[in-house]
Amino acid sequence: MAKYEVQWSKRYYASGRAVIEAESKEKAKEIAEERIGDYEGSMQYDADGDDIYILGEKLTKCCGELGMGCGYEGNVEDMTKHPKYDGYLCPKCTKETS
Ligand SMILES: [Zn+2]
Repeated sequence: MAKYEVQWSKRYYASGRAVIEAESKEKAKEIAEERIGDYEGSMQYDADGDDIYILGEKLTKCCGELGMGCGYEGNVEDMTKHPKYDGYLCPKCTKETS
């Protein structure tokens, strides 16, 4: 099985209530807007905010000849596709094979 590097992010939001003394509704809203940075409400997890991005395939093992690898494990980008087998070769084994 291959290994993939995945970048993720998830979103939380906070909500709550406050009582504000003001001359009007509009003024109360203004005051709330000023204070919102200091408000601590209850945290809610927003599943719609989940974001997952596959960065690439990572850490594959050198397969060497006939699947007998040298044990080297590296990023797929640094490996070479084996000319005969379904696998990858590390930089060292690439030189020996060619
Ligand atoms: Zn190797």
